[in-house]
Amino acid sequence: MDADGACLMLHLGLSNLVSDADAWRAILAVKGASGKLCCPVCLNLTTDKAKLAAHPAELCGLHESDLANAVRASDEDLWYKVDTIAEAARTESKARVRKLQTVLGVNHCPEGILADAELRPHFLPISILTMDSMHNMCSHGCGQQEMGLMLHRLSRLAPPVPHDHVETFFAADWRVASTIGTPSCVAGIGSQTRVDSSCRNGSSFTTSASEFLLAYPVFHYFLVRVVTPRYDLGKPFESFEALGVVLHSMNSAKREPIDADVVDAECSTSMSSFVESHGKNRVKPKRHYQMHIPAQIRRDRGRLWDAFAGERKNKAVLAMAENIRNTKTFERSVLQTLIASTFQKLCQDDALSQKLLKPARPAECLVGLLPEWGSVVPTISNAAHISGRKICIGELVVPNGERDAFLIHACVSAHSWFGVIAERCAFVESVSRFAKRFKRCNRISIVRLQGFVAVDIWYYPDVSQIVTLWP
Ligand SMILES: [Zn+2]
Repeated sequence: MDADGACLMLHLGLSNLVSDADAWRAILAVKGASGKLCCPVCLNLTTDKAKLAAHPAELCGLHESDLANAVRASDEDLWYKVDTIAEAARTESKARVRKLQTVLGVNHCPEGILADAELRPHFLPISILTMDSMHNMCSHGCGQQEMGLMLHRLSRLAPPVPHDHVETFFAADWRVASTIGTPSCVAGIGSQTRVDSSCRNGSSFTTSASEFLLAYPVFHYFLVRVVTPRYDLGKPFESFEALGVVLHSMNSAKREPIDADVVDAECSTSMSSFVESHGKNRVKPKRHYQMHIPAQIRRDRGRLWDAFAGERKNKAVLAMAENIRNTKTFERSVLQTLIASTFQKLCQDDALSQKLLKPARPAECLVGLLPEWGSVVPTISNAAHISGRKICIGELVVPNGERDAFLIHACVSAHSWFGVIAERCAFVESVSRFAKRFKRCNRISIVRLQGFVAVDIWYYPDVSQIVTLWP
């Protein structure tokens, strides 16, 4: 109702729908990979090999590294499919409707958002669709597949790289920011069970999305420093590196606008290297979906939205759901409880406060360390809470936009200033055996925490700039 008590109809338009294939099924009733036309954005992309062989000029396969032949679907095209299936459901047999659904890649869902004619001006399914790059790359995605295939290749070299070398490398004394993971988490990723199953049959390496982001730089480092000096890994290694380049761009687009044409070229290179190395039959739909990311970046003015933040919080949702019975109102109850609990936490006085955590103590020896502090005696501690993030000694942090990494020795504060006493870390130039420590520079410096907006966890094309994790 408005101020005068009159009823109003309020429409909110969605401008960006970040989603993976499960979300397409749930929100749009689009089948995704289980349909013959498996991409909602391409009208002529099919997984039907016989049809593809018979009509190579009209149809596109998943393995295309250039989407010039793909016919881009419009919102009207998707609505047309929905209406065609709805019409068939009224007039045709159930078997024919089922077949039509598989061919068109859309389920019959009369109560779905796409079937609602009134909502069509406000909800443009294709125009706003953002294929989630995080799910494509890191969640049972292209990344895990590349790692699995590379491990398989290592076991087929002559002589093979022993599985336990990978395990030992992952179990080295890595340093990692606690917001990203722990050294034991890195060690667990390289466990014998996981490595063995990929080595045996080339199946996707089993990791969660967060684990994969820890695993990629470590495994890449292992390949560069330990394997490639002795073996020629050939094209598959190029494919593995090309994937890292795409990952890096995905990360950059989350921080600042980037050039979509560059990402376009990187995605094409990644696809063609993969096909050349492993064959077109191994290309998963997710790798094709990844090819649409540059167009999304272009549409969103150089930015890329993904579901990573939500994915990192799924444990919180699961915790809320644990004590709620799965009845008809399950979804609503879980979301209400989650919102209430999050709101409660944010309302607490110190939710986003900056403070040193106990035990904090005065440190006379640090007086005059920074001119802004004057003669105030700073307080020092082994942990701090800064803008909702906990930072501890022993962590490795990479200031946003910088290429240097710092090992934290202490957290310090004076007036309203916060900082960490950190040691700059240098690169390990060679690995003759599995190093136990990273190289350190001899200079201890103070770094102001205000500079730590984000922690970098990504691969850089130049191998001397792998950051975050150091042996
Ligand atoms: Zn497509």
